[in-house]
Amino acid sequence: MATAPAAVMAAPAMTVMTRAVLVVMLAAVPTRAVFVVMLVAVAAAALALGRLVRTVGMTGFRFGCAHRWISFGRDNEIQSSAIPRSHADADAGGRRAGRLAFRHRDDRDAIPPHDSSRSPGRTAPRRLLLVGAAVVTAGIVGAAVLASAGTHRPALVPTTPTATPRSLTSARLRPIVYIQAGHQPPGEPGYTAQTGASGGPFGTEVAFNVRLARALSARLRASGVIVRQTPAKVTPWGARGAVFISLHFDAAGGSAGIGYAVHQRGRGENYYQGEGSGTARPVPYPNSAPHRKATAVTTAVQQSSLRLARDLAATFGPIHTRANGARGRFRGVEPGARGNVRMQFFYGYYRVNTRARVLIECGAADLDSAFLGRVSLIAGAIDKGLVAYLHQTKQL
Ligand SMILES: [Zn+2]
Repeated sequence: MATAPAAVMAAPAMTVMTRAVLVVMLAAVPTRAVFVVMLVAVAAAALALGRLVRTVGMTGFRFGCAHRWISFGRDNEIQSSAIPRSHADADAGGRRAGRLAFRHRDDRDAIPPHDSSRSPGRTAPRRLLLVGAAVVTAGIVGAAVLASAGTHRPALVPTTPTATPRSLTSARLRPIVYIQAGHQPPGEPGYTAQTGASGGPFGTEVAFNVRLARALSARLRASGVIVRQTPAKVTPWGARGAVFISLHFDAAGGSAGIGYAVHQRGRGENYYQGEGSGTARPVPYPNSAPHRKATAVTTAVQQSSLRLARDLAATFGPIHTRANGARGRFRGVEPGARGNVRMQFFYGYYRVNTRARVLIECGAADLDSAFLGRVSLIAGAIDKGLVAYLHQTKQL
């Protein structure tokens, strides 16, 4: 869109007024096509008014450009040429291909006398007609300029690539945490018989896990984390993000503890009899129900998971006290591959692709029942440990 303005400014011998008029029009009109139409209209009006001035004997300034022709070709480029040698040449040139010529009075005086034979038909009614046409044209152009000046001008506004909304940008930078309420239906294929412990402050482990998941989600979201909740069947499979955490409490006689994903060559998730009964082992039983495809637990995943487990232990341990209703024991972080295989090779670690993957047993159904009833307190401690981990690893 720079062609027309550049050509206008490059025309060497325009008067200041003409240049100003063109610049104002360029600033006001919406498109180049409208600009050209308006310029032609203004030129026609100026020509007619010039004739009127000449007719009524006014002296001095005339409309238009001094010393040069201005012509508009099909490509809208503005060209200049020398002063026509006579009025006849000027007018003949002006009539060619829609070209229009205007000159200053001084130039007109330098040109040889006009051939009076070329204007025999110029009469008073025709002059009035010219004046009327000039006034109407000037009015139309003025209205167009005023109207376009107050409207949006997309064609003249430089278009920039679509800016990314701030919300999307910040969303990309915020960590995603997957929270699993342990044993919450629907179950994971191959583990659907594991419906969780009974007892506790809300009657079942699932009832506690769901409450804790909800409370933890709210706290994490308030901390700027993107939270996704998943039932026992890990949804979606293979999710990417910062953290996967599975929430539980242990059966009566058990204890509180934190497990994490362990990388061990040749060892993957646990297998059970049928849909999750019996003792966990690294290879399928003849009657093991089919499992969904497993994701990988790498050494990098193990390192991140261990770090998160330690951060969680650092905030959870201090609240698992008698003063808060706990009567059982907190074992801390499981000792790697030698730890509780149900917590270290938990199937959930093999259904996601998050950097860190952990499981927390918040207490035992019997001894820690009063403590487990303090869902908000527990959620606060887990949130604190998770956020600390995300800050330390520069993910939040
Ligand atoms: Zn459980």
